[in-house]
Amino acid sequence: MDSEELAGRLEADGWLLVDDAADADVAVVNTCGFVEAAKKDSVDALLEANDLKGHGRTQAVVAVGCMAERYGKELQDALPEADAVLGFDDYANITDRLQTILSGGHHAAHLPRDRRKLLPLTPVERQAAAADVALPGHGAPEDLPDGVAPASGPRTLRRRLDDSPVASVKLASGCDRRCSFCAIPAFRGSFISRRPSDVLHESQWLAEQNVREVVLVSENNTSYGKDLGDIRLLETLLSEIAAVEGIERVRVSYLQPAEMRPGLIDVMTGTPGVVPYFDLSFQHSAPAVLRRMRRFGNTDQFLDLLKTIRDKAPQAGARSNFIVGFPGETEEDFAELERFVTHAGLDAIGVFGYSDEDGTEAATFDGKLPEDVVSDRLARLSKLAEELTAQRAEQRIGDEVEVLVESVEDGLVEGRSAHQAPETDGLTTLTGAPDAVVGQFYRARVTGSEGVDLVAEAIEICRQAAAE
Ligand code: SF4
Repeated sequence: MDSEELAGRLEADGWLLVDDAADADVAVVNTCGFVEAAKKDSVDALLEANDLKGHGRTQAVVAVGCMAERYGKELQDALPEADAVLGFDDYANITDRLQTILSGGHHAAHLPRDRRKLLPLTPVERQAAAADVALPGHGAPEDLPDGVAPASGPRTLRRRLDDSPVASVKLASGCDRRCSFCAIPAFRGSFISRRPSDVLHESQWLAEQNVREVVLVSENNTSYGKDLGDIRLLETLLSEIAAVEGIERVRVSYLQPAEMRPGLIDVMTGTPGVVPYFDLSFQHSAPAVLRRMRRFGNTDQFLDLLKTIRDKAPQAGARSNFIVGFPGETEEDFAELERFVTHAGLDAIGVFGYSDEDGTEAATFDGKLPEDVVSDRLARLSKLAEELTAQRAEQRIGDEVEVLVESVEDGLVEGRSAHQAPETDGLTTLTGAPDAVVGQFYRARVTGSEGVDLVAEAIEICRQAAAE
């Protein structure tokens, strides 16, 4: 999504976007700085782009995105293969930056700063101050050509980079929580919501680009609206996006269990077009570990929350991530987490072994566990998660689902049911639909499962693709 914003900016400035980096004068690599694995992938992508230099058209490689923002000069020093490292503050002038590099000039990478300090501490004072702060994905009221931005209203700089019927829309940036293991607030800044009209206009524009499912993303969607004076704004906005012509599904990612409220659960389980899908970031369930993580809750509270959801929507999807081997985690704490995962009935589970993240509070904690203990717990919980999510998928055999077709290749029709989010969760393979077209919705009966993936027999097309 941030890549699409940069693509929109570049195109609006007259750059020609190409599919293959080898055909580009400059390769712009959007890096991720969240966890070690993502950082490694980003460095690999930069090195791969660097290998193109000297063989064809590519003259320069530039790093943008979260890792570039988080490390700035440090990344530039460590990775001279990147011709420039650009932070969020450079995005508004990205054309100038790229032209400087291409003409042989040098752009000094920034020294990272704590971006929380860029906005006022009081949430309701933030919108007024936001005009002076670079907020990727928040759009800007600029005059842009058609096809690059919404036709009306505050225009969002965005150019679609694929023709998937699913697209993310940024709901907010930053985070005001202080999870002790997390570096995101320092480089993403304080929480700030996008205006509902901007989110709505972008969704309308995406519908015009044949998008059928909108996925709302931010670091913490449950906080949406708190800086706009209405903590229940998400409830209203969800219904409005679901009513956009052409948008058939609205999905919300990343919800904080501690901030879940009955009204939001009601809207998410009872609004046509809003999928009952709960991406709840539990991270752990043993109270002592949660406290050290600076988070709240316990096993029984989390199980109650899931029960409340399923009482209203028995087929609701639920996923979560967990960190094992956190400093001070005992075998009893780990067993408590296993108890939770065993009873939670989650459709998808991400498990991460704890490792110190630069600049976080947890990195200073004592009680660090030996690496072999962390990897043993990671392996144990991953195996349990794999078994339990496969069981959960098996329980769905016989259910009726609605599948959004996302790819048709050599007779293989794949898509996702409402409880499956793009990229992170399982897929549904559709049988009995030889004429399926990407963007169509099928009513189907689940006939089998493999791991978290489902096989479903088509019953009928319930909604046509947008272009038909
Ligand atoms: S809520 Fe999420 S983004 Fe915010 S500090 Fe915690 S883990 Fe990081």
